[in-house]
Amino acid sequence: MKLAIHGGKPIRTTPFPAYKVIGEKEKKAVMEVLDSGILSRYLGCWHEDFYGGPQVQALEKEWADYFKVKHAIAVNSCTSGLYCAVGAIGVEPGQEIIVPPFTMTATATAPIIFNAIPVFADIEHDYFCLDPESIEDRITSRTKAVIVVDLFGQPYDVERINAIAKKHDLVVIEDTAQAPGAVFADKYAGTLGDIGVFSLNYHKHIHCGEGGMVVTDNDDFAERIRLIRNHAEAVAADKGMSNIVNLIGFNFRLPEMEAAISRCQLKKLESLVSERINNCNYLADKLAGIPAIIPPPTRDKCSHVYYVQPFRFIEQIAEITRDIFIEAVRAELPVTELREGEGPLLSSGYVKPLYLLPIYQQKIAYGSHGYPFSLLPDNKQVCYDKGLCPVTELLHEKEFFCHELMRPGMSRRDLDDVVSAFFKVWKNRKQL
Ligand SMILES: *Cc1c(COP(=O)(O)O)cnc(C)c1O
Repeated sequence: MKLAIHGGKPIRTTPFPAYKVIGEKEKKAVMEVLDSGILSRYLGCWHEDFYGGPQVQALEKEWADYFKVKHAIAVNSCTSGLYCAVGAIGVEPGQEIIVPPFTMTATATAPIIFNAIPVFADIEHDYFCLDPESIEDRITSRTKAVIVVDLFGQPYDVERINAIAKKHDLVVIEDTAQAPGAVFADKYAGTLGDIGVFSLNYHKHIHCGEGGMVVTDNDDFAERIRLIRNHAEAVAADKGMSNIVNLIGFNFRLPEMEAAISRCQLKKLESLVSERINNCNYLADKLAGIPAIIPPPTRDKCSHVYYVQPFRFIEQIAEITRDIFIEAVRAELPVTELREGEGPLLSSGYVKPLYLLPIYQQKIAYGSHGYPFSLLPDNKQVCYDKGLCPVTELLHEKEFFCHELMRPGMSRRDLDDVVSAFFKVWKNRKQL
């Protein structure tokens, strides 16, 4: 059979169905907010409205109950939630925060906002989350915290990393943007470290367009997060804050309509997650029939909620490169509705290891003289050289691929088309 990449007939050209999770309940909730006339009720001063309007406060209560955590704080993105978290822990300029390089950029820029220095540790070859041994290797007397990412939908190595953090007195900030609803033992991802941050952006499991949630059991962190969210410097004195470190205010307030949508979305989380898991299990099972493809293992005591479905591709077994193989599979597949411009939702690699971005390569963030990277003592230089995280680089350059063709809305027939595309290319790979 002639491969589509060589002009043959593709497995499928009709688009896959869109991931549509906004329905009548959200519409009704938004109309109620509009009718109420209260589109946001924050005041940036010490007043009862410092904590926001009725939808925001209801969302926070429901989120805290659902995830079994003391405080949930609504923000306008996961990025702003990460900024709040880093500020709240009282990091000093020039202190170091350990982060993974295989993640969305905001995980690593959050420290920079408060003049701390991101230090990249490598990730696990099998689970793709921060590698505990690499974290230990990067710890110095200046390390303040580690930002772990529950990458692609499963929790970080909670037992080992939390033990390292305890030993070295580090704060654990958990970036749970990709893993809402995942669990470790009987606890939800997001509540496994000291502070957890969720995303409610359009691409995530549940969303309100743009939004985020920060959770913590720590009262002090929670209050400082609320202050950073809402003009801290204008509020601190009247609120009686004695410790004003990093209480620089932003406006990270989530509006009422987005909060109302998020409340409806939270109710759908469980069923959306279980449909993803079913679809991914089905695909992993089928694709395991291709010896060069290694489906993702799920960590002991954890569940995986699949923001994307990650795989490794072993070139030595296939005798062709990952990039050629994936390009050929893409040629067999259609686009997905509402995201036509992105082409088929299957890609080689994920992100370029973050330390290779210009901000780190040139060490230019604030101004043009290397600040805050220049804050290390004795002219020490933080390392962002190629080769810094060999596992991440191997995955990025040769092994890793992922797809989003398992989102709820995909039928068994749709999934079977995905499988057929992979097998067609596998069986005919000699043509490549
Ligand atoms: C999406 C994402 C973010 C940022 O989320 P926003 O809500 O868009 O700011 C941060 N970290 C990870 C791992 C993400 O996937």
